[in-house]
Amino acid sequence: MTLSRTARIVNVVAVSIPFIGALVAVVLLWNSAVTWFDLAVATGMYLFGAFGITIGYHRVLTHGAAQAKPWLRYLLAIMGSSAIQGPVLMWVADHRAHHTHTDQEGDPHSPHVGGGSGIKGLFHAHMGWLWNENTPAHRPSKQCPDLVRDRGLVRISKAFPWIALATMAVPFLLGLAYYGTLAGALQTFVWGALVRTFFMHHVTWSINSICHFWGYRRFESDDHSTNNPALALLSLGESWHHNHHAFPRAAKMGMRWYEVDISWQVIRLFTKLGWMEKPVVISRERQDAKRIGAVPAPVAGD
Ligand SMILES: [Zn+2]
Ligand SMILES: [Zn+2]
Repeated sequence: MTLSRTARIVNVVAVSIPFIGALVAVVLLWNSAVTWFDLAVATGMYLFGAFGITIGYHRVLTHGAAQAKPWLRYLLAIMGSSAIQGPVLMWVADHRAHHTHTDQEGDPHSPHVGGGSGIKGLFHAHMGWLWNENTPAHRPSKQCPDLVRDRGLVRISKAFPWIALATMAVPFLLGLAYYGTLAGALQTFVWGALVRTFFMHHVTWSINSICHFWGYRRFESDDHSTNNPALALLSLGESWHHNHHAFPRAAKMGMRWYEVDISWQVIRLFTKLGWMEKPVVISRERQDAKRIGAVPAPVAGD
């Protein structure tokens, strides 16, 4: 299957516009044109897209960290698409390659390979990699044959440009309904579409850049991944990224009481409601066996 070049271009354009839009918004609207309504729309849409990414695109679809009912799986894929980070199959393909080749040749977004060193490498991992034409995203049948077989997901993946467009139109229409004026509609659009997407992009990309650079480590692993507490709330638990690289299939990324993981709380709720099952949780024994400096447990049969 081919996921079109158009989707890639739409994504790059959609990435650039919020960036410029957010800067314009801050300059033009500072102290004058934002209301609680605009912020509520922006926050609501942020959470809608962010949970779609963290629970849907990432934990359930990329890693199979829990099994979701088909309707929830599709809903999460649509929610994730609204975050405008690319069609679901392309996102999963890139992310699976990131896990297979973490911080080595073949990792699409490592601050340590493929983009220079220091700040240049960080920029590459943060967003420079998006301009790379030759990432695993173009070979979803190789990276995610399991998902390519799911016709519903393929359809959602192909509909990405339309979902992206709709996610921009919703805040505009909400603003029009609430304020009843074009100026009001534009104001809600700036916050609910542009600023919200800008924020979402940079939080997600910070996981790729910052969480392979700054933070603490607990487990033996060959990569540079880190746990970064500063991003935990905004990223809905994804910044326990070192825990995640140590145990990629875990649905619960926060592994200590102080490692707040809101996405896990939602997965837990969905499981209680019967909408998800078999969330993977790593026992304390398995964690301890992988801790830095732990004595390797004897292999059965030795
Ligand atoms: Zn990583
Ligand atoms: Zn992952």
